[in-house]
Amino acid sequence: MKAKKFVVVNHFVNEAKPTDLKLVEEELPPLKNGEYLVEAEYLSVDPYMRPYLQRFPVGITMIGSQVAKIIESKNPNFPVGKRIVGNLGWRTHTIINPSTNQDDVLQQQPYVLPDIGDLPSSLGLGVLGMPGNTAYFGLLEICKPKPGETIVISGAAGAVGSHVGQIAKNLGLIVIGICGSDEKCKWLTEELGFDSAINYKTASIASSLRKAAPQGVDCYFDNVGGDISSVVMYQMRPFGRVSVCGSISSYNTDASSLPKSTILQPVIVFNQLKIEGFIVTRWADRWNEGIIQNLRWIREGKLRYRETVTKGFENMFDAFIGMMRGENVGKAIIQA
Ligand code: NDP
Repeated sequence: MKAKKFVVVNHFVNEAKPTDLKLVEEELPPLKNGEYLVEAEYLSVDPYMRPYLQRFPVGITMIGSQVAKIIESKNPNFPVGKRIVGNLGWRTHTIINPSTNQDDVLQQQPYVLPDIGDLPSSLGLGVLGMPGNTAYFGLLEICKPKPGETIVISGAAGAVGSHVGQIAKNLGLIVIGICGSDEKCKWLTEELGFDSAINYKTASIASSLRKAAPQGVDCYFDNVGGDISSVVMYQMRPFGRVSVCGSISSYNTDASSLPKSTILQPVIVFNQLKIEGFIVTRWADRWNEGIIQNLRWIREGKLRYRETVTKGFENMFDAFIGMMRGENVGKAIIQA
């Protein structure tokens, strides 16, 4: 059996280049007892890949997760035909030995995709996987939203942001999204029920936000960081809560080249804001709770999802760069 995989040739500098990765073939050995072989069905491209990769040496297989089907097995706990979700990297076929840790990134072993009935297995990488749990735990545990409050979400039309906004709507909040195109704004307000949406590329966030939230903002779910977040934080109400989920606006920039920070301390002190970063694996022991609740909301028609699907394993790099540039609506995935 031959596997294809993307190997890291160079660490990324600024925006990743196609030549930073190389597509190679690898001959896989026969299975040993306890092992099983999977074939990738869907692969994920996620923003964390850009900054996280720098922690690993050149020469590794590019990091990432996938939904894969078990096609051969010498382990009765992982029978042929089942699907798993695992951080196996950008590769088409993988031999897994559950007794050795496969994952250096999220420190999570591959797990069997829960029964999601007739829904597509790709959801295990999005609304019913890591981004879905990021939305669920990052909103509920950090923002602790209350009905009637106002929440702002940046990166609002992506996998995590579009999901956070819908949970917040279900809980009775006023929801304002910030994202990078009119088409995305339209999707948020006309299909997902957001109360308003701001295109940060064409509108002034400060004045649009004053109109959309004249009383100020109680919760901010921050996916992007940078100037957008500074503007939002200066419009927060006393005792506001900020869930710092990501800072994609800085991911392509080397830490030493980032601009000096905007002074945020006055608003943090005088409005007594609470600002907390998180990594979703903090709730690894409650992983299934998030998946079950998100599945319930989908079944009840209270949670919609959208995927931007790129076909072909060979096109993974284009899908990754496209997602980093904002070409995706909802979750960016690759169909192998
Ligand atoms: P998305 O599906 O939101 O895709 C990334 C989006 O970021 C793009 O579509 C683009 O949309 C937006 N973007 C790109 N560059 C900029 C910029 N300079 N300023 C503002 N927006 C930009 O990705 P995810 O939903 O997977 O992830 C969203 C965030 O959540 C990321 O920061 C990620 O790192 C973080 N995250 C954190 C986790 C945690 O455990 N803390 C777990 C998972 C994700 P647009 O058109 O709007 O610009």
